[in-house]
Amino acid sequence: MMIEGQHRLILIGPQGSGKGTQAELLSVYLQVPTISTGQLCRSEIAHGTELGKQIENFVKNGELVPDEIITAMLKKRISDYDAQDGFIIDGFPRTVAQAEEAQSWLHPTKVIVLEINDRVAVQRMTSRRACTQCRFKTTAEYVAKHGDECPRCFGKIIQRQDDLPEAIQKRLDMYHLVTQPVIEFYKKTDEMERFNGALSIPLVFMEIAHVL
Ligand code: AMP
Repeated sequence: MMIEGQHRLILIGPQGSGKGTQAELLSVYLQVPTISTGQLCRSEIAHGTELGKQIENFVKNGELVPDEIITAMLKKRISDYDAQDGFIIDGFPRTVAQAEEAQSWLHPTKVIVLEINDRVAVQRMTSRRACTQCRFKTTAEYVAKHGDECPRCFGKIIQRQDDLPEAIQKRLDMYHLVTQPVIEFYKKTDEMERFNGALSIPLVFMEIAHVL
């Protein structure tokens, strides 16, 4: 399968680096959908599907879902009508094996790497709160001040189970161990650009938009 389209972006970075936020902004800017493999997993779980049951424990414990399952989910999603002119992927590939396997069908036009250190990542993830219904993300401070009703869709804002302290550390360790080598993998191509994810949201966005 060869996916045609002008912008087939991949975002790579540790949890809390702002991948999801930048993906949403880029999606509006480029008029292509954001595809978050984490969101695809959470949606299967929330709908109680067979697949959701299979992957539930991996996701809740902050462990990686097996490569074949993730790859199949993503391939299906990018074959949808709305992704035919391009897409922004947040959360894939997470392993070199996934990156290697995807060489024959993903064909990214640009790989965007967001870099932050662990201290900032932990700080951001500990404070992160998210809507259970839409993709709205906010902070613990916001919820303390305004309550847990999502201002976008009126759903409930919660702390994700994998954003609890033990899972946070596990996911960061996993990032260093298995996802960072993916950056080395893409470094060999000239499609990769690195950004400082510790900067403010609009600054990071402007820097990315500049290279597209
Ligand atoms: P995220 O929202 O990107 O932090 O992903 C949440 C969870 O979904 C991860 O901790 C994994 O359990 C699962 N997941 C998402 N993307 C992948 C992937 N490419 N490979 C394996 N598991 C994934």
